[in-house]
Amino acid sequence: MQNIITPISPPIDSYNDICVICYNKSVSPVTLNSCGLDNNNNIKPIKCAYSLKNPTCLTCTRKYIKSKYYNYKYNCLAGCCKIKNKGFLAYGELNRSPDDVAEPRMWKEMGSNGITKCYRCDEECNTVLDLGIHIKKKCKLTKIKCFVCSEYYNRSEEKEHQKNCYFYCRWCGPTKNITIYFDKNKKKKIRHNCLENNIKKSILNKHSNA
Ligand SMILES: [Zn+2]
Ligand SMILES: [Zn+2]
Ligand SMILES: [Zn+2]
Ligand SMILES: [Zn+2]
Ligand SMILES: [Zn+2]
Repeated sequence: MQNIITPISPPIDSYNDICVICYNKSVSPVTLNSCGLDNNNNIKPIKCAYSLKNPTCLTCTRKYIKSKYYNYKYNCLAGCCKIKNKGFLAYGELNRSPDDVAEPRMWKEMGSNGITKCYRCDEECNTVLDLGIHIKKKCKLTKIKCFVCSEYYNRSEEKEHQKNCYFYCRWCGPTKNITIYFDKNKKKKIRHNCLENNIKKSILNKHSNA
């Protein structure tokens, strides 16, 4: 078993541009991350060597990970390594932030060499990286999972959805002093500094008409 600790971009001519999940040309190709242990026995993601040569579509990869939801750990696509993470650490560039696209370096190196047109809204983005940014941050048809109600909505419906779906404190009211942030495991969390001093533990409620 060969594991490569630092992410390397495979040379353009040596990797398979067909997604081994859907058998089409990969859209926004991503690589999988297995896991190993660092010197302090902490779990540390490691690139799957097979997927470095066979990156798969971002959406196919996410579906694959989701389909393993009930397994504590599951095999990579080739069975060469085990993956433990169910979230965004299971694929893409190591050490990226949750706001980054999945494979910033690889997509930049690909330039226009790959799918560059949005499969949802048909917009031509000209480069692989710009398509990734378009889908993650701009495309009006991208489905976004609501942090409050866990339902999906189109980005174009975001404002309307948030009007009807929000966290509130029964003492402070809707959206007051409520911060949504990423913790050290890059999980979305919510924090509330209650203005009501006598309350030992503030309870946040959800309002959802969605
Ligand atoms: Zn695919
Ligand atoms: Zn593997
Ligand atoms: Zn689009
Ligand atoms: Zn919602
Ligand atoms: Zn409060």
